Amino acid sequence: MKKAEKIQFILDTLDGLYPQAECALHYTHPYELLIATRLSAQCTDERVNKVTPALFEKYPTLEAFASADFDELCEMVHSCGFFRGKAKSIIEMSQTILEKFNGQVPDNIEDLTSLSGIGRKTANLICGDIYGKPAIIADTHCIRLSNRLGLTTSKNPEIVERQLKAIIPPERQTKLCHNLVHHGRAVCDARKPNCGECPLKDVCVYFKHL
Ligand code: SF4
Repeated sequence: MKKAEKIQFILDTLDGLYPQAECALHYTHPYELLIATRLSAQCTDERVNKVTPALFEKYPTLEAFASADFDELCEMVHSCGFFRGKAKSIIEMSQTILEKFNGQVPDNIEDLTSLSGIGRKTANLICGDIYGKPAIIADTHCIRLSNRLGLTTSKNPEIVERQLKAIIPPERQTKLCHNLVHHGRAVCDARKPNCGECPLKDVCVYFKHL
């Protein structure tokens, strides 16, 4: 199978397996996705989704987050781990969005990564899910699966992002990343991938070398 055919096969197979795949974090407003994603660092989406309903109720606007009491916010996000750093950046990013971006979550990587605590992974998630722009969200699942499948050759998120951007059609990039998260959780586990049940095994480099 030629490389272009292999890529097409992977994209179509994953779309068929996970037609509804999307970000697992719950949110209503764009800034809420930004905050939920900040909380999800070194934490599970499940845990974040347990914390955010009360959090978004207590702080119903960006202004409320910008003027939040640091200690109170720490207490609310405590169970997500690294709570001091997360609370600090949530307050700072909210202030910056209000002061520098007229209360609108930025729609480009450069401005997003200028916010406190926001890296390229989160910036791409916002660009893809909020603004519908082509985006490669190089999280742990994306990096592991794209390497195993032979689509990428690095564990470095920025290189993975660049390599995938070069070979995946723009309109399919964001959905591919959500599909990879779902496939990573359901089949291609970090320690014990269930290759025998995987519809991608015929094109998978990792499986070929088992
Ligand atoms: S064949 Fe195995 S390693 Fe390859 S994508 Fe499927 S589960 Fe992952």
